[in-house]
Amino acid sequence: MTIQSLTDLGLTAPPSRFGRTFQSMQRGLVGRCPRCGEGKCGNDNTQYPSDDAGPYFTILLVGHIVIAPLLCFSWIWTAPVGWVIGTTLPAIAILTLLLLPRVKGAIVGLLYALKLKGDPSAEALPPVV
Ligand SMILES: [Zn+2]
Repeated sequence: MTIQSLTDLGLTAPPSRFGRTFQSMQRGLVGRCPRCGEGKCGNDNTQYPSDDAGPYFTILLVGHIVIAPLLCFSWIWTAPVGWVIGTTLPAIAILTLLLLPRVKGAIVGLLYALKLKGDPSAEALPPVV
């Protein structure tokens, strides 16, 4: 038997930084902890504030996946406005609500991999009166 790589010895190389980042984002994307891959593990993921990145990238995705291609169909320009809004708006809302937690999870995974924590001394915004 010839040994050609470390895997032949049962050894694997540690994942690269890109691999770890991708793995953390992938875990967050499916709703798991970016650190261990478990669903609920007690890891404080609130220390990685995604802020507006989740909604921003969700809007970017929905806009490019649904809205831009939708404008290429001729019926969208000729059908009554109420009918177009009544059919497209629920689909866009459902897609947005499905994507938002996944995109936010991926952002938290990215922040975890890059070790970008929020400022613990930052005060919360005052309540809106
Ligand atoms: Zn964990």
